[in-house]
Amino acid sequence: MPGLTAPDQPAAARWTSTTDLHVEWGDGHPSDYRTDYLRAQCPCAWCRVERGKPAKERNLLAMRPTAQALASPAVELVGRYGIRMAWGDGHSSGIYPFTYLREICPCPACRQQRRR
Ligand SMILES: [Zn+2]
Ligand SMILES: [Zn+2]
Repeated sequence: MPGLTAPDQPAAARWTSTTDLHVEWGDGHPSDYRTDYLRAQCPCAWCRVERGKPAKERNLLAMRPTAQALASPAVELVGRYGIRMAWGDGHSSGIYPFTYLREICPCPACRQQRRR
């Protein structure tokens, strides 16, 4: 993704395996996202509703996608705003704004910061 160099925009992104997305942000911060984590944080309305339900009422397809569904989802750039992820099970309504992606960075430093 060339040309995106603001601190909260990715300067580079690549797959390090079929289930690991590595993003380098404009300020040099690296983030490593596992696809199961990204799927669990899917910001689409349907997933948010499912996550809000009590565990036994949830749609298990939404909460526990198969390994196949999680491998190498198609990533489509949505302008300079974010990415859309199209998963192997056909779920593709989740648009992840870059600011959101950065917010959910799973690295220890960011986790620590979110606890404050
Ligand atoms: Zn979703
Ligand atoms: Zn981080």
